Amino acid sequence: MPLDPALRDRIIASVEAGFPDQIAHTQALVRFPSTRGQEQAIQDFVFRAFRARGLAMDRFAMDRAAIEDHPGGSKFAPDHSEAPIVVGIHRPRAETGRSLILQAHVDVVPPGPIDLWTHPPFEPVIEGDWLYGRGGADMKAGHAANLFVLDALTRIGLQPAATVTLQSVVEEESTGNGALMTHLRGYRAEAVLIPEPEEEMLVRANTGVLWFQVEVRGRPVHVREMGTGANAIDAAYRVIGALRRLEESWNARKAGRRHFEGEAHPINLNVGRIEGGDWASSVPAWCRIDCRIAIYPGVGAEEAAREIEAAVHAFALADPFLSNAPPRVTFNGFFAEGYELAEGSEAEAVLARAHEAATGRALRSFMTAGYLDTRVHALYDRVPALCYGPISENIHGFDERVSLASLKRITTAMALFVAEWCGVEPV
Ligand code: ZN
Repeated sequence: MPLDPALRDRIIASVEAGFPDQIAHTQALVRFPSTRGQEQAIQDFVFRAFRARGLAMDRFAMDRAAIEDHPGGSKFAPDHSEAPIVVGIHRPRAETGRSLILQAHVDVVPPGPIDLWTHPPFEPVIEGDWLYGRGGADMKAGHAANLFVLDALTRIGLQPAATVTLQSVVEEESTGNGALMTHLRGYRAEAVLIPEPEEEMLVRANTGVLWFQVEVRGRPVHVREMGTGANAIDAAYRVIGALRRLEESWNARKAGRRHFEGEAHPINLNVGRIEGGDWASSVPAWCRIDCRIAIYPGVGAEEAAREIEAAVHAFALADPFLSNAPPRVTFNGFFAEGYELAEGSEAEAVLARAHEAATGRALRSFMTAGYLDTRVHALYDRVPALCYGPISENIHGFDERVSLASLKRITTAMALFVAEWCGVEPV
């Protein structure tokens, strides 16, 4: 049932009243350089912030065996984070509404060369409507919004009339194992909301993602005998060519896929990292490339992995050097399938009403071609998993920034969503 207009107006005003504190909290999160494996300090900070609100607390580690045993578990590499997952649980006095999980990740991607940033990446500078900083948009603004939605209700003497679980996870940018771990820990709710920076839209369809490394071994010789030595870096370039052809064949398969056939290039292969060789005057004996590729929803990670291996293997067989030194393919991160959000859920209808009240516009949905933790809840919890969040620019790039006006609208929509989905009771 739509919210009573008087209650709606009180919630809108309360989000507004709390917004300066919400910005300050977001800035505090941005100050933590929480790249992969460096999330312990920020998770401690989050733990204290949740506990200060009186939430029941849980903090736990990754269960590697359970994750590796699960079809949605991604591959562990030596740099897998060992930071804990932090969960805060609000329990109502009377469970009369529908339960909800609000999730966000604290890990951020590396800032890259600092001199390409206008401001240092972990200094949360505000200019006009924009809050700058690595991770500010993706997704510390959303992380703070999850908490400040509850604060907005508390400020007017209300709390959700259903269990609301706040989850602060890691490994979203590399495996998705943090979100999967909350599932394996047993957390469930009737809906999940993750406020990633989604341009004030709802994610309707989302690709899966695989990470893999290709290692080429050559034979080192002095450059004066280069013709006889196999150059591993040159060979790796040829392998990249073969992977580009695989990428094109996967893009051609968009035909007939409802959320993808209208996209120019839904499947992106990124060669994200390359290392190899030892010396400018020695023919390099080794080269490793780290790659990321997307897969359509409904395509299994395992079948995609076999196809990548087969493509590299077939190319190597036809290459004079590589046929004698076959490249090795290792899956070392994301091994995750995509999902589609079923249309017509009650959770989506409630979010659409909340969005319209907060922004004055109808809620639009779209396809996004990158990994999202909502896949865990869509595929394995099997509940409406809503990914929806603020307007941003340059996520994973330089001068990443989030719009504060948009963040306020999104937080308002989330607060109205929680009030209607969970119902409210006096504190
Ligand atoms: Zn994100």
